[in-house]
Amino acid sequence: MKRRPADATRCVHAGEDRHGQSAPLTTPIAQTAVFVVPSLDELRRYAEGDRDLYLYSRYGNPTITAAEEKIAALEGAEAAVITSSGMSAELIAALATCQAGDEIASMLDIYGGTVKLFEDVLARCGIKTRFIPYHDLKNAGRYFSPKTRMLFLETPTNPTLRCADIAALSAIAHRHKVCVVVDNTFATPVLQKPLALGADIVMHSATKYLGGHSDLTAGVLAGPKKWMDRARELMILTGGCLDPGCAYLLLRGLKTLHLRVERAGSNAAAIAAALERHPEVSHVYYPGLAGHEAHELASRQMAGYGMMVSFDLRGGEPAVDRFIKKLKLWYLATSLGGVESILSYPVLSSHIGLSAKRLKLLGVSPATVRLSVGIEDPTDLIADLEGALARA
Ligand code: PLP
Repeated sequence: MKRRPADATRCVHAGEDRHGQSAPLTTPIAQTAVFVVPSLDELRRYAEGDRDLYLYSRYGNPTITAAEEKIAALEGAEAAVITSSGMSAELIAALATCQAGDEIASMLDIYGGTVKLFEDVLARCGIKTRFIPYHDLKNAGRYFSPKTRMLFLETPTNPTLRCADIAALSAIAHRHKVCVVVDNTFATPVLQKPLALGADIVMHSATKYLGGHSDLTAGVLAGPKKWMDRARELMILTGGCLDPGCAYLLLRGLKTLHLRVERAGSNAAAIAAALERHPEVSHVYYPGLAGHEAHELASRQMAGYGMMVSFDLRGGEPAVDRFIKKLKLWYLATSLGGVESILSYPVLSSHIGLSAKRLKLLGVSPATVRLSVGIEDPTDLIADLEGALARA
């Protein structure tokens, strides 16, 4: 049997064609909106459904294809469709699975923008969402109706890094003929492969770890050809395509994904351990810690515990304010997944405007700080955190 390359090798080589004569070692940027068609024969082939031909970059572009093939290889998917942002990927996933009158069942613990997409935008299109609180996920079936078409999961969650059991929830959903979509942004395909666990479609905000350098906005869906053909059609018709220059940055970022995940992951584990010992810290959220509520599940479902760490400061919001002002290395920035270590303050960013009741359900408070751990030296990162904590 042919040996399948490991993820570290796939990150570098999958999707890139280096075999032609005088082929460039890196996939070039096909910076064009339009392609020349050799003759009407090719147009006839295209009209008959042959998609090997490039016509127009909104439909497909060689640089984008290379990035799609790399991500599909990493997710173990038949195909992938790159979109202009994670939000666009989510909209397309919803439109591919649901129409007016249908329902979505979704975890409550998901990115705030996704909640707004479901509650505000899709509701206006006649698609209703029922949200499942984390501690009721085992009863997910109760949130399905005969109209439910999609179960939306995000795991690990933001910012408390709870985990949803993808295999168990996929089994429940499939009994109801419901399609399972997993937002794999926080884990990356290096640490978690939702399709192998039973999900139908995996999505990412590629703006985060896949791109990895906080210099692009992109999204992606990956899964069986059946779903991806539909997703591609919707990407084309909603205009949610990526620019080829951006696809080149994404391809370049993906080549170091494995290395970045390893380094940032070991940094995160060291930081979580240091924070757990700190007297100013009342709680640390990191699935690698034995006391974390999803430790056992994360150990089973993931190949590592991730690069995100959150914690609660004893002094609440005033202490967080003082702490952030004293940091020298860590930047306050509302994203994640880049090489630089950054921190965010959920109640004023990803969770802004949520009611006290919903924040309680999500386990988030004004004392909570979220860290996106980068690839710097762990001793420097810990020293900066400890120095600022001492003055908080
Ligand atoms: N999913 C998760 C988990 C996110 O954190 C984000 C953005 O922060 C999104 C989706 C949306 O992605 P984008 O900002 O690329 O549209």
